[in-house]
Amino acid sequence: MKKKMEIHRRLDKTPDARDTCDMTVELRTRLDGAIKAFIIDMDGVIYHGNRLLRGAAELVEWLRRSGKRFLFLTNSSERSPPELSQKLSRLGIEVEPEHFYTSALATAGFLASQKPGGSAFVIGEPGLTNALYDSGYSMNNVNPDYVVIGESRGYGLESIERAVRLVLGGARLVGTNPDLSGPSETGLVPACGALVAPIELTTGKKAYFVGKPNPLMMRHALRRLGATREETAIIGDRMDTDIIAGIEADIETILVLSGVTSLVEIGRFSYAPRHVLEGVFEIPGE
Ligand SMILES: [Mg+2]
Repeated sequence: MKKKMEIHRRLDKTPDARDTCDMTVELRTRLDGAIKAFIIDMDGVIYHGNRLLRGAAELVEWLRRSGKRFLFLTNSSERSPPELSQKLSRLGIEVEPEHFYTSALATAGFLASQKPGGSAFVIGEPGLTNALYDSGYSMNNVNPDYVVIGESRGYGLESIERAVRLVLGGARLVGTNPDLSGPSETGLVPACGALVAPIELTTGKKAYFVGKPNPLMMRHALRRLGATREETAIIGDRMDTDIIAGIEADIETILVLSGVTSLVEIGRFSYAPRHVLEGVFEIPGE
C-alpha cells in the first residue's frame, strides 16, 4: 500500500502522466465494467523468460471468471500459438492456443491480403513458415513475391546473400517485427529488426514491419477478439511498442512496471499511458 501511494505521488509530478493520478478508482470501475476485452503482451507482463510474474495465474483466472475476452500478443515470430500455450502450461497456466496472436500470424494475414496465394523466401522458425502455409502461401527461393524475415536460429551469411539477391531481383522485403533486440535466458539477443538491417543496408531497400507498434497488428487482434476499440484495453511493459501501438489504434492503455519501463522513463516520452500499474497482480482486485 505504501509503495502504491509513493507511485501516485511521483506520478503527480510527471506532467505527461497527470491523467493517471486517480487511475485506481477509474481503472477499477472500467476493469469491472466497460472494458470487456484485453490485448496482453507477454514478456515483462506475465513472465520473464521462464519465470512467471506475480499475479499472472490470477489474472487469467479473473479474465475467465469475469467473462472477459483476451488475446496474448507477442512480437516474437518463433513460436506458434500451440507452442506458446505449451510454454504457459509448463509455467503452470492453462490457456488454449486460440488466445495467442503472434507477429508471424499478423504477417501472414498482411501478405494474404496484399497478394493472395503468393510466394515467399523465408528466414524464420516454424512459427512463421507454418503461419504462411496456413494463409495460402508457398515457399520459393528462386523468384518469390516476398522476402520475409523473422527471428531465426538458422540465420547465416548464405541466407542473407540469397535474401539480398532476391530483393534486388524485385521481391518485397517484409519483417515480422521491428524489435532490435529481445530477452533470452542467456541475456540480450538480436531480434528481427537487427536481422533485417544487413539486407536493408546492402540493398538500399527499406523493409515493411508488421508487428507492434504497427497499428495493423492491433486491428487484426481486435478482429480476432471480436471486440471494438472502445471496449478493449492493451496491457504492456514497453512504451515504444505496446503503449504507442495502443495509442495509435485508439485503444485504452495500461502500462505495467514489471518489465523494461520504470516510472521515471515514462516521462521521457511525448505520449503517456492512460494507466500505470506495478504489475498485473493489481488487476484481479480483492
Ligand atoms: Mg513486453
